[in-house]
Amino acid sequence: MKIAMISYWSCPLTRLGVLRSGGMNVYVLNLADQLGRMGHQVDIFTSSHKENDDRVISVNPKVKIIHLPRVKKDLYKDVSLFAQKVIDYINDKHLAYDILHGHYFYSGLIGKYLKNEFNLPLVVSFHSLGYTKDKFGGIKDRRRIRAEKDLIGTVDLVIASTEIEKQDLIDGYALPKEKITIVSPGVNHYIFRKHRQSNSREKLHLPQTKKIILFVGRIDPIKDISFLIEAVDLLANQYRSFKNNFRVLLIGGDINSRQFWQTNEVKKIKKLIEDKKLCCCVKFIGSRPHNLLPYYYSSSDVVVMPSKYESFGLVVLEAMACEGAIIASRAGGLQYLVKDKINGRLFDSGNVEQLKNVLWELLNDPKQRKALGQSALKYSQSFCWDKQAKKIIKIYRDIVQFSQKDKK
Ligand code: UDP
Repeated sequence: MKIAMISYWSCPLTRLGVLRSGGMNVYVLNLADQLGRMGHQVDIFTSSHKENDDRVISVNPKVKIIHLPRVKKDLYKDVSLFAQKVIDYINDKHLAYDILHGHYFYSGLIGKYLKNEFNLPLVVSFHSLGYTKDKFGGIKDRRRIRAEKDLIGTVDLVIASTEIEKQDLIDGYALPKEKITIVSPGVNHYIFRKHRQSNSREKLHLPQTKKIILFVGRIDPIKDISFLIEAVDLLANQYRSFKNNFRVLLIGGDINSRQFWQTNEVKKIKKLIEDKKLCCCVKFIGSRPHNLLPYYYSSSDVVVMPSKYESFGLVVLEAMACEGAIIASRAGGLQYLVKDKINGRLFDSGNVEQLKNVLWELLNDPKQRKALGQSALKYSQSFCWDKQAKKIIKIYRDIVQFSQKDKK
């Protein structure tokens, strides 16, 4: 099959964990790579950025990333202009596709233009929704919700990551359930696997004698890192030895840029760390290359995901593949991945006392950590990119067949 993917929000090759580059980038790159390995042709249209001003980059012999320059700073205002650039590029190069797949609502909007121009079926993966950001994070973006509603009237199919996302699409957008299929993301088990804790710490120059609590992700209000700091503060007050014996590592963000320290979220977290006198044991260590993360997961005693909402939570799946002991909030896709006391631990969002207690229990119970980690690994094995890509190809084929019948 020939697939045109659109990843307008950010290029899959930008530095992960910085600004808006996170799970969706990992998803697009892994899915496209896998589809290419299966013999399908995938062109990913994205906007140029400073790390990659080369126009076309090959991911593998079948998969290309095509960078086109953005025109305006405002992402909304640029949608139609960028869509026109994609249309011109496709026409200039005499390219032809069977299907369009847009990632995130912006790319869906671009897909709408391409669908009209080339009369092709359009699949959209939203990755996150304005409706849920508002419901769980209190982040109101009416323009976005309007755009998502408008898009939903046009798409041929929406791919949701979990049953929860499917329900949100039905509740928040009145999307008919026949228009939604669930395919969860996968994890790359060749990269994400357990390493010996002592070796990993040595490789990363981390102390051998401290217990490590790890957070990985974009530094974004929805991740609720402050909530983790609050729980750590309760531990530090209750147990005198805590500050000496524990380290909390926050992975994500470009800590060498001035812009990072000027964002409201970072300022808020930094102030909290200072006010609580936790500078000695809680550290922002910046974004880390994707293929180093298995060593971080393997170095840690627990991995915490305190998010107010996650549409899926790739970090949790990656930590599971590395046999990590995970503590996650009962929020969005995290409840779907983590089965409490079976392959990780859950706490009720907003209950800081509960997070503190689970943290302490797990940090002091190596047997439980090991048992949870082993069953997490088993669970993660059902999420592989090759399996998920096969499901997606079947979806593409069905839609293409259906739309060809429709055209006749
Ligand atoms: N990530 C990374 N380096 C970092 C921070 C994050 O490689 O410094 C990757 C991480 O491995 C995961 C993704 O970014 O694959 C984050 O995905 P997740 O679904 O957890 O969060 P999202 O960004 O979708 O909110």
